[in-house]
Amino acid sequence: MEDFKVQSVLLTGGDRGIGLGLVEAFLGLPHPPQLLFATCRHPDGPGAQALKEMSRRGSKGCTLVVLQLDVTDPESIKAAAQKVGEQVGGSGLNLLINNAAIACDTTLETEDAQNMAAVYATNTIGPLLMCQAFMPLLRKGAWTSNQCKMSCKKAAIINISSSYGSLSLVDSWGWKQDVGYRCSKAALNMLTRCLALRYSICGILSVSLHPGGVKTDLGVEQEEVSLASSARGMVEVLSRLSAHDNGTFLDWKGQVIPW
Ligand code: NDP
Repeated sequence: MEDFKVQSVLLTGGDRGIGLGLVEAFLGLPHPPQLLFATCRHPDGPGAQALKEMSRRGSKGCTLVVLQLDVTDPESIKAAAQKVGEQVGGSGLNLLINNAAIACDTTLETEDAQNMAAVYATNTIGPLLMCQAFMPLLRKGAWTSNQCKMSCKKAAIINISSSYGSLSLVDSWGWKQDVGYRCSKAALNMLTRCLALRYSICGILSVSLHPGGVKTDLGVEQEEVSLASSARGMVEVLSRLSAHDNGTFLDWKGQVIPW
């Protein structure tokens, strides 16, 4: 990862869990991004203290900007895009990571319309609204980049998905049924494919990434991988992505997950 330097990165759900882990992993790079936008719903709440402390401490060559953003609120997405646009100026945005998600412990018997709609609003519609709002900045990032080949250094959208969204892997329930969550991630994977189809011509990569089973508020009880290893692994995968990976579904080690 010695030569992996992305100018600007934005991620959602940066105040805890894997989002916060990703912030730490980016800050720990030999060449961290110049601008790292960690967005969260409540930047002034107690849950964002660790993130804000990281931002105050700063890091070599990286400005960590904490911004308010609720992926279910189009006005908050628009306001954040405006602020990011002012900071990145003509260089645009290089890397958008749609990480925020919710899950409710439901089964086929207990899932209901209200819960499923809430899960979709965050996990599937949220990433779509984010891509729409940040597309002008991503296009600018791709145009003005000195990279000719597709990569995260040029412009990319990473949707943090889950193996629970794989249609091929549902031959057992695994840790939970989580029906609405599984459906939302399968739909997110289709969004990744559509983005890849539409925006590769603009030089923008789109990939779905599974972080592995990580112990977080949303995640598994028995961890498959530690938070730090998952986050570092995903950043390493990001450093290697190329046109060959456009529209694929990979895990934190870079292994292909079947759709
Ligand atoms: P956490 O529950 O620990 O964190 C979820 C994050 O999403 C929080 O920062 C939360 O913010 C944020 N969030 C939720 N709703 C919104 C919203 N409407 N707008 C903005 N932010 C929101 O989950 P993980 O860190 O475990 O999950 C991160 C990603 O990894 C998710 O996409 C998840 O599906 C995926 N994943 C996780 C696995 C695991 O084992 N942990 C396995 C497979 C996939 P707030 O603090 O405000 O609630």
